[in-house]
Amino acid sequence: MQKKIKEIIKLINKNDNFLIVGHVGSDGDSIGSVTAFTRLLRIKNKKVRAYLNRDTLAPFSFLETEGEEFYTDSKKLKKDLAAENYILITLDSGNLERVDLEAEITAGAEFIINIDHHADNSHFGKINLVGSDRAAVGEIIYNFAVEMIGIDIPMQVAEPLATAIITDTGALRYENTTSRVLRILADLMDVGVDIYKINKKIFGSISYKALILKGLALATLERSANGKIAWLYVSRQMMHEAETDYTEGLVSMARDIEDVEIGILFTEEEEAEIKVSLRSNFYAEVNELAAEFNGGGHPRAAGATVEKTLEETINLVVEAAKKYV
Ligand code: 5GP
Ligand code: MN
Ligand code: MN
Repeated sequence: MQKKIKEIIKLINKNDNFLIVGHVGSDGDSIGSVTAFTRLLRIKNKKVRAYLNRDTLAPFSFLETEGEEFYTDSKKLKKDLAAENYILITLDSGNLERVDLEAEITAGAEFIINIDHHADNSHFGKINLVGSDRAAVGEIIYNFAVEMIGIDIPMQVAEPLATAIITDTGALRYENTTSRVLRILADLMDVGVDIYKINKKIFGSISYKALILKGLALATLERSANGKIAWLYVSRQMMHEAETDYTEGLVSMARDIEDVEIGILFTEEEEAEIKVSLRSNFYAEVNELAAEFNGGGHPRAAGATVEKTLEETINLVVEAAKKYV
């Protein structure tokens, strides 16, 4: 890991035009890592563009700094990049389809540096740094920061890194929480990061509308396989009724039920486009279950999109899940 980090830093030092991006349906690890890495390279006086999808940014708006340039308009990004040679750095994206860019922008890059922590990463970059034993990409970017500017990490980099790590470890509750993670967070606290504030923002507060949706979703709860599989769904009608499509955290209600091994959330994005979120507790490798539906992820958190109706998808996925419990 350290050797590869040094190799990438050398490459960064030799070049001066970067585009940094995370994955579609961006989360705290993706947004935090993109924000931190962009700021780190800007501290090093590099020309860096970053793309962050506006749809998923709202809960993380506390990371924003006034006057800072991040692209949220992909048309404008495409236009600005048209005549340029840029190196694309993808973060937290297991494969090219997950990268949150128009295909043209991805294809237009000189080459790709792929930094990720998904074990099923397809190594689509020219350079691939895949730390599958790392809890978050934020943990990897922390190592970059220490290597590039030392342990006195400025708040503007430290806070998004802590956000990335806290998101992907579920505030230190998930199996991926290592002593290394705790040490990094301790170091980040020592440079001024307010862990309580971040926890509160991400896990300790919910909008009124999202809570209404949570109630509607909870009413759909069902179990199977002697209570080892539990699932709930969110239909378009429910999102319409609650006036929000914010589904973050809903799947954990299913996973956290006593005796449940696999928890599933089905979200009806379109009539025949169902997003499936999978979580497990102790042994079920839900990334393999997700792969059966062309998705992927981590052993305890994975997902896929299925192009069938809500009812068909629920039947198919629950049936397939039974093999894993
Ligand atoms: P979520 O359920 O929060 O959307 O996703 C959980 C994890 O599953 C993500 O961190 C990501 O690693 C993975 N994931 C979700 N959806 C997909 C997908 O469609 N394809 C792949 N390869 N991974 C996914
Ligand atoms: Mn992610
Ligand atoms: Mn991640």
